[in-house]
Amino acid sequence: MHANKFQEQDKLKAFPVESDDLGMPFKEIFDFIIVGGGTSGCILARRLVDANFKVLLLEAGGNPPPLLDVPFVNSFIQNHSNSDLDIMFQQVSVQKITAGLPKYNVSKILTGKTMGGSTTINDMQYERGSPQSYDQWAKITGDRTWKYEQILKYFKKMEEYLGISTKEGNGDMNDGTLNLTLGQEIWFNAGRELGFTIFNFSEPQRVGFHPLRFTQKNGMRINTYAAFLKTIEETRKTFLEIRRYSIVSKILFEGKRATGVYYTRHGIPRVASAMKEVIICAGTFKTPILLIKSGIGSESQLRAANVGPIIAILPEVGRNLQDHPIVQIGPISFDDNITLWNPQQNFTFEDVEQFFKFKKGPLTNPYELKFGEAIVASNGSAREVGPGWPDLQISFDSVKCTIRLIRSHSRGLLKFNSSATGIEDPFFLTAEFKFFKIDRDIDAMIQGPNARTEFK
Ligand SMILES: Cc1cc2nc3c(=O)[nH]c(=O)nc-3n(C[C@H](O)[C@H](O)[C@H](O)COP(=O)(O)OP(=O)(O)OC[C@H]3O[C@@H](n4cnc5c(N)ncnc54)[C@H](O)[C@@H]3O)c2cc1C
Repeated sequence: MHANKFQEQDKLKAFPVESDDLGMPFKEIFDFIIVGGGTSGCILARRLVDANFKVLLLEAGGNPPPLLDVPFVNSFIQNHSNSDLDIMFQQVSVQKITAGLPKYNVSKILTGKTMGGSTTINDMQYERGSPQSYDQWAKITGDRTWKYEQILKYFKKMEEYLGISTKEGNGDMNDGTLNLTLGQEIWFNAGRELGFTIFNFSEPQRVGFHPLRFTQKNGMRINTYAAFLKTIEETRKTFLEIRRYSIVSKILFEGKRATGVYYTRHGIPRVASAMKEVIICAGTFKTPILLIKSGIGSESQLRAANVGPIIAILPEVGRNLQDHPIVQIGPISFDDNITLWNPQQNFTFEDVEQFFKFKKGPLTNPYELKFGEAIVASNGSAREVGPGWPDLQISFDSVKCTIRLIRSHSRGLLKFNSSATGIEDPFFLTAEFKFFKIDRDIDAMIQGPNARTEFK
């Protein structure tokens, strides 16, 4: 309902501008064009506007419905993908890997299609990640600026820690901890009993137990649009132009230099030019798709898709697809007489009242109440790279144990879909994740539940 209302409002606002084009694509010039007003797009736009560059931000979706600011609503959206909020999501089919997936081997992959992108629908858990991962990227690219010690200042610049432990960092990212004291204490005691160290937000990720951090403020979700652009959209109009409901379908080139984009806004064609750069922040799936549509990709993909002039043969486009596979085990029962909030059993009007009056309570949590997390290195990982670069993340909530393989070795790809009707078909590429293709990923995952049995 809100999504439709926002779209109509934006169309009315855009209409006077759109109406003078007499059917010709209307062309405008900016310093930078950013495609995608999601996580990376909003932060980049803010940094460029702060440096007084003229930026055009093109986003396929509109503003998110206010209900999504309530963290707990998240679990409903993720589990009820046919709701009115479907407009928020793009679908990509995936190879069937378990009997649990819907028919036709097609599964839904959620990505936010809205200002703030996937930070509008994600679980809000904030992690800087492992220092070793950044150091490895520095090694692969031969670019020292990817090293964790170099990256850290950028994290600090965007973080504003509003939690209860040591303050660190300063910036726009609002990171609040939830009031989970009881659960956290039990969790940390379990960790100590097992000989793990407890590390906090300001320390690099390593093997041990740590509390959770969420991108929230006063109990509400803060997505990257709210954190970085909302407050300057009106005040920095000379430098920042945000166009919602604007779908970019091609990057335009002069020779090999990207000079602009072709897009439609509310279905009306537009062309925009960039004096400096076109930056594609369209997410994991849509970024390679847009590159391929624009003539950049592997030769076989470009020929199969019949995209027109080939700008550059880059075989890695659409490859190296990865995510963190999850195994969940439950239901869990506890020996002690501890009251834990379980949404299926314990959801009350008092919870709703507590949230709307005080912005506190279980509705500030994106899922069943979680205590904290353990970061563990599987045997294989410890053997190969030492204990300093763990690959498993283990958490408990009120009903289950979740084990994530955070450093999977299996890699998937985006594949040309031969039954697609052409490159405008939303499924002209399909995603094949190939989870657990490599045995060592299964071996690592199996060790997660074994670690779980150690907890009392
Ligand atoms: C269900 C879920 C839970 C998650 N939980 C967590 C978590 O707890 N913690 C965490 O750190 N990460 C989490 N993630 C991952 C994290 O949210 C993403 O990795 C991150 O948001 C990706 O950022 P991005 O900028 O690459 O893309 P996005 O944030 O997805 O933004 C891409 C934007 O580009 C727009 N776009 C796409 N194509 C076009 C086009 N052609 N023209 C114009 N605009 C276009 C889209 O509409 C979108 O707004 C989760 C992700 C999901 C889906």
